[in-house]
Amino acid sequence: MLSRLRPPRRRGPTLWNDMPDPAYTRGAALPTLLAQRILVIDGAMGTQLQRHRLDEADFRGTRWRDHPKDLKGNNDLLVLTRPDIVRAIHDAYLAAGADIIETNTFGATRIAQEDYGLGPVAEEMNRAAARLARQAVDAASTPERPRFVAGALGPTPRTASISPDVNDPGARNVSFDELRDAYREQAQGLLDGGCDLFLVETIFDTLNAKAAIFALDELMDATGERLPVILSGTVTDASGRILSGQTVAAFWHSVRHARPLAVGLNCALGAALMRPYIEELSKVAADTWISCYPNAGLPNPMSETGFDETPPVTAGLLGEFARSGFLNIAGGCCGTTPEHIAAIAAAVSPYRPRSRRDPLFSTLVAA
Ligand SMILES: [Zn+2]
Repeated sequence: MLSRLRPPRRRGPTLWNDMPDPAYTRGAALPTLLAQRILVIDGAMGTQLQRHRLDEADFRGTRWRDHPKDLKGNNDLLVLTRPDIVRAIHDAYLAAGADIIETNTFGATRIAQEDYGLGPVAEEMNRAAARLARQAVDAASTPERPRFVAGALGPTPRTASISPDVNDPGARNVSFDELRDAYREQAQGLLDGGCDLFLVETIFDTLNAKAAIFALDELMDATGERLPVILSGTVTDASGRILSGQTVAAFWHSVRHARPLAVGLNCALGAALMRPYIEELSKVAADTWISCYPNAGLPNPMSETGFDETPPVTAGLLGEFARSGFLNIAGGCCGTTPEHIAAIAAAVSPYRPRSRRDPLFSTLVAA
């Protein structure tokens, strides 16, 4: 009886499905690779940096020795002041089996860097971060096993659709245009530094993500470059919504026009609690690939890395997602380490990647 309630089957491809993948000027091998196997994205940068127990002087280097604000904790600055450490972390993730390495630029927008008095350095940080990741990836890549640099664009500490003032729901501390300008500058640095794709990640406000998408479109129109884009949202509570209030299906429908290479979820609740949402997304976003890189479980302030899940636990959960046919890209977020990524790579490798429901694309791959 329930089957009567199902919506009618879609008849034939939609206009979207009639369109081939964009002719990417970088990362052009990614669509073919994604049809062949589940790709692995790296794990946390912050967790690895913590292990080095860096102090204020490490963050400052000589260039910012006399900077008036504290810089400890500004992880993005380390691409300029401790590039040796950031490079070693990239190398460790590549050795663990990551196909895609994220630039260390989660907070490297002018908006986020203003908190440290380093807004004007944002573009330089992104360029340096992309160069570092590029060098690591080029050293690890072979013709048989290419690796890729994902230029990471984080959510910024400001949200365009949520009030920072409980007494004034209409208040905003950032505008769409300010976000767009900051993302444009960040993306320009990442592009100049040599990234292969863009990753708009940890999206908890869809309007912020839309500003990033808009900026990326403007940049690509202006430069003639066309890079794959991955959009990764964050479900922040057990109601299955991102912070700005959308379910994952609503989130997908609001960003689908960007024709991302992949859409997915990262961070937040960890894999166990993320399962229903990644399942839903893998069904609703039928015409794109799915990425998933959760935290190592729920945060635990008592644990050394802040998270409890051991590599076998996280890898077991992602392996089950792969077996269930949800995944095209798998990896880790906060609390994950190269050991987690090696375990995840091993756990997902026996399984076929989820296939897109895209008749034309399947025909092209078969040909
Ligand atoms: Zn995270």
